[in-house]
Amino acid sequence: MIFTLSDDETLVIDQVTRFANEVLAPQAAHLDETSTFATLHLSAMASLGLMGINLPEKYGGAELSGPALYRAVEQVAGACGSTASMLTAHFLATDSLHLGAGAALCERLLPDAAAGNTLGAFALTEPDAGSNPADMRSVATREDDCYRLKGSKCFISNAGAADFIVVFAKTDRAAGARGISAFVVEPKTTSGFDIGPNERTMGLKGGHVFSLNFDCLVPAENILGDEGTGFKTAMKVLDNGRVEVAAQATGIARAALDAAIEYAKQRQIGGHAIAEFQGLQWMLADMATDLQAARALAAQAALKRSTGQRFSTESAYAKLYATEAAWRIADQALQIHGGYGYTRDFPLERYLRDLRILRIYEGSSEIQRSIIARDLLA
Ligand SMILES: Cc1cc2nc3c(=O)[nH]c(=O)nc-3n(C[C@H](O)[C@H](O)[C@H](O)COP(=O)(O)OP(=O)(O)OC[C@H]3O[C@@H](n4cnc5c(N)ncnc54)[C@H](O)[C@@H]3O)c2cc1C
Repeated sequence: MIFTLSDDETLVIDQVTRFANEVLAPQAAHLDETSTFATLHLSAMASLGLMGINLPEKYGGAELSGPALYRAVEQVAGACGSTASMLTAHFLATDSLHLGAGAALCERLLPDAAAGNTLGAFALTEPDAGSNPADMRSVATREDDCYRLKGSKCFISNAGAADFIVVFAKTDRAAGARGISAFVVEPKTTSGFDIGPNERTMGLKGGHVFSLNFDCLVPAENILGDEGTGFKTAMKVLDNGRVEVAAQATGIARAALDAAIEYAKQRQIGGHAIAEFQGLQWMLADMATDLQAARALAAQAALKRSTGQRFSTESAYAKLYATEAAWRIADQALQIHGGYGYTRDFPLERYLRDLRILRIYEGSSEIQRSIIARDLLA
């Protein structure tokens, strides 16, 4: 591995790896086939401490540093992409609180979230504001000791089972991104907050996504930080999230590469294992090189994240390269499986379907290129 983990971190990663291999991997195809929500694994993940692995110890979290967290998500994703998506959407919500909210809100919500007693969701995207959240139309208006939140969101992972959702809305419509604030909504006890059915998606079928429609009141103390700080919080959270998307990508890519190596060694054509063909050996070598490069960029971002410095550009490099490379790797792994790779008897087609959204969500590849170019041209 490119970075060194402490003994304690290695112990945690070993536990996560065992759990991923023994519990998540055997059920991954079933989750996909039946679109079973990955919350199926919630209590087991909670027992392992996984749901709070990103949070400070004072809230009951494991306070893992950037590289160890990256590695944990990679292990989960390699076993089950849907479960990794559910887990990382929860991290987006808890990171929002940790990075954007005051102590009172954190102390009220984070211990249960870290313990896995509650599930979080992060609601930024709207039907008319995906890549450019500053265009959002949801508004929040102060009414005595509450805010009235009015608007809609789409593609919100976890929302249907969430105990708390971080919802972004404009408190000042004239101020663009600086007018955006973030609020915690507890949907199970909030009237006027409607959650639609699970969307039918191409992949990550166990990582459910929902639309939201709301005209509801939330207590004023549910605002994260001050009015107008929501966009800044969202961007910091997405810097973290993009490293976790890179981890999802390299986790699935590693599973695809392992499957291709295994298959190439046992598949016989004309009395030879196909692994003997130099063309396929070179393909495997290119896949492994691409994976190493993706991990190196992700490690760079994860390491910088753990220093507390700004790492938006490193995060963009990591997400862009890892998600595009993982797509290439899984495609080549399917190629090595021949026609069998195209069937549902092998996991390759699932890997490709699960990987496809990673090039879109939390900022598409085009948006990552824009972030990198902005830094180059600054
Ligand atoms: C399975 C799934 C889970 C999701 N989970 C969440 C979640 O939990 N929370 C949440 O808030 N959102 C979530 N999303 C939403 C996701 O983040 C958005 O779909 C994504 O940000 C893209 O927005 P959009 O779909 O509106 O695409 P658009 O913004 O309409 O983009 C369309 C195309 O235009 C390109 N484009 C846009 N702007 C530019 C530009 N400036 N330069 C060049 N190209 C550009 C894009 O790259 C894309 O190719 C999820 C989506 C899915 C499908």
